[in-house]
Amino acid sequence: MNKLLILVVEDDTPVRSLITTTLKAQDYRFIVALNGNEAVMETASHNPDIILLDLGLPDIDGVEVIRRIRSWSNVPIIVISARSEDSDKIDALDAGADDYLTKPFSVDELLARLRVTKRRLALIQSSGQSAIFVNGHLRIDYASGCAYLSDVELHLTPIEYKLLCLLAQNTGKVLTHKFITQSVWGSSWENDVVSLRVFMATLRKKLEKEPGSPKYIQTHVGIGYRMLKIE
Ligand code: CA
Repeated sequence: MNKLLILVVEDDTPVRSLITTTLKAQDYRFIVALNGNEAVMETASHNPDIILLDLGLPDIDGVEVIRRIRSWSNVPIIVISARSEDSDKIDALDAGADDYLTKPFSVDELLARLRVTKRRLALIQSSGQSAIFVNGHLRIDYASGCAYLSDVELHLTPIEYKLLCLLAQNTGKVLTHKFITQSVWGSSWENDVVSLRVFMATLRKKLEKEPGSPKYIQTHVGIGYRMLKIE
């Protein structure tokens, strides 16, 4: 496989150098953009494999950058935001970002996010619109509407099954509470988020060997959930 090309969008020089030094050390190829307009242009002209996008940019808002790029590209986008910008992070995920890093972050966190995204890319390239989903011991047969763990059928309620399929179809991507409740219930009220927590707990009891330390479904406190690709 060719080395991945990463577009780094960050106006803050120290943060940008931390990122590019890390990428260089890990043998990633990269290009940089210092603002939102440059980010959109570089994406269009170089077609990067992954974008690392700071949300606080000097010209256009990072969320707007995502909307523009998403109008023609599904390139994975990892947003970088300060801790005080939690609602921006959620808006970014709702606009189509895949994952996030909160400043200040460590080199290890950055590399971990890139690994998750690489797995997501590999999955998107290999599976396409397959009728069977496989991840670790989990298998979903979309045609028959059944899910199995180690070949034993999981007895899921219709909502648990819907939730599981939604997470599976977006493996590697953080889904916000709002996105999930809108997809499953068609609405996104406070009550739906409470119900979501309840359904997620019952789904995990059936899916995870140790629901206390889940392997398949990761919780992002205050944000949402993500299915992880099991190696
Ligand atoms: Ca910034």
